[in-house]
Amino acid sequence: MSEKIEKQKISLPCPKGCSRAIEISYYDICSRREAKCGRCGSKYKFGSSEASNLKSAMSYVQRLTDEIERKSKELERKIQDFQKANERLLKSPDIELKN
Ligand SMILES: [Zn+2]
Repeated sequence: MSEKIEKQKISLPCPKGCSRAIEISYYDICSRREAKCGRCGSKYKFGSSEASNLKSAMSYVQRLTDEIERKSKELERKIQDFQKANERLLKSPDIELKN
């Protein structure tokens, strides 16, 4: 299973210009709605409607991603079934010879 989008981190430069960047997960962006520099305490504050918009877009992408992963495993199994069925079919067919 691939990593959940909400656990992925983005890196933002400190708004005040500290050398160390702010690393924050999408989950924390959506729930805290701020990203704070660990060094100087300066922060970005995100709008609540933008954050909730990001959250719903993220959930949607995650749902589809999960569904595609499930379907892709199912497809692998079905391709194997198909190959086995094809092998069985070709294994010992009746033969009818014509003059
Ligand atoms: Zn800073």
